[in-house]
Amino acid sequence: PTRADITYFGAGPAALPTDVLEIAAQALLDYNGTGLGIAEHSHRSELATNIINEAKADLASFLDIPANDYEVVFMQAGGTGEFAASVYNLIGAWVARQHAAILAELGAGADEAAVVAALRDRVEKKLKVDYIVTGGWSLKAYQEAIRLLGPEYVNLAADARTLNDGKFGKIPDPSTWKLSEDAALVYYCDNETVDGVEFPEFPAVLAPRADGSGPIVVADMSSNILSRRVPVSNYSLLFFGAQKNLGCTGVTVAVVKKSLLPPTTSQPSPALLRKLGLPVPPIMLVYETIAKNNSLYNTLSIFDVFVAGQVLKKLLKTFPDKVDGQQAVAEKKANLLYAALEKYPDVYRIVPDKSVRSRMNICFRVTKNGNIDESEKAFLKEATAQGLTGLKGHRSVGGIRASNYNSIPLEGAEKLAKFIETFATA
Ligand code: PLP
Repeated sequence: PTRADITYFGAGPAALPTDVLEIAAQALLDYNGTGLGIAEHSHRSELATNIINEAKADLASFLDIPANDYEVVFMQAGGTGEFAASVYNLIGAWVARQHAAILAELGAGADEAAVVAALRDRVEKKLKVDYIVTGGWSLKAYQEAIRLLGPEYVNLAADARTLNDGKFGKIPDPSTWKLSEDAALVYYCDNETVDGVEFPEFPAVLAPRADGSGPIVVADMSSNILSRRVPVSNYSLLFFGAQKNLGCTGVTVAVVKKSLLPPTTSQPSPALLRKLGLPVPPIMLVYETIAKNNSLYNTLSIFDVFVAGQVLKKLLKTFPDKVDGQQAVAEKKANLLYAALEKYPDVYRIVPDKSVRSRMNICFRVTKNGNIDESEKAFLKEATAQGLTGLKGHRSVGGIRASNYNSIPLEGAEKLAKFIETFATA
């Protein structure tokens, strides 16, 4: 088959728009008549800096990120690296706040050993990171926090599996979340790619209070960024890999609240962290280092930033009302697919609860003539024959998953919806 024959519903890496790939292919061979490809130019060159700055500005414009309050950084950590980065940076910020408070309490001439002892005591008694576990990816982030810090510092504030016989598919009522007082972070995954569970909206219990204080909220938006409006100001950190809704694999974006960076907040020194028994982060996961260097502390793949930048330019051109325009299309496509599935309840079972169905990853089971395995095999085989590919569910849960990212055109979703109907009735 050729590109034109296929609609690819893979969960990530996802399909990219063909016109963007054509520009990228040319740029790989010769960027802007320089005789050198974009992947060959120095990341320290002016053209690389321009590509970074334009992509940052276009992302901020499309999502309405308040540029005065937030820093956008490009990294190579992947979503998985951000599981660790969020822990390191936000416990660092927590320690910095406690350190300042203790210095204020003990006075300017305080003995350093006494300050460290007071800080260690506070770490042991009060340091907590909170996790809302609603699917496979927030579970992985929670497990990473335990691996880095030890279980004593990690609070499982909510576990969706307790609602559904040990399986994911619901979101516990936020009023039941057991949030710690003054947690260094509260973490959740806005869209669970494997389980097809998406937060319908920002959880109000995590909203900032009138005086501006409130929980330090971290969200993984790897699989739904750029598909709906985000109340950015409610977050201290949000992050996402590019490979689903933004660009190709290899670059990760972190949107960090500037008050967590110098001059307001500086990460504790490695020596202090060691005295406190806390882990010292690898330098390439320290946001203040990356931000200070405009994402160029070390070699960044400028090609990947370029592709993301081209996708953003295309989005800005397509949607004059920016992310609201893309949101309307994403909802239309998702509604189409869920409606097709709901028409045949004897054949299709949508996995997550209706209240938390993902617009991005549509997870369902297929049973025709009583045999689920055979039915799903047949569904995948016939879909593939019609150019509808990448529909196999994640290996950990099985079933079918249609990933409805931004690059899936409306016609692609229509084609799949039609196939869902004809398969059920054939
Ligand atoms: N978070 C979510 C929601 C994901 O879907 C994924 C990957 O699919 C990850 C994190 C992990 O990302 P990466 O593979 O870039 O580490």
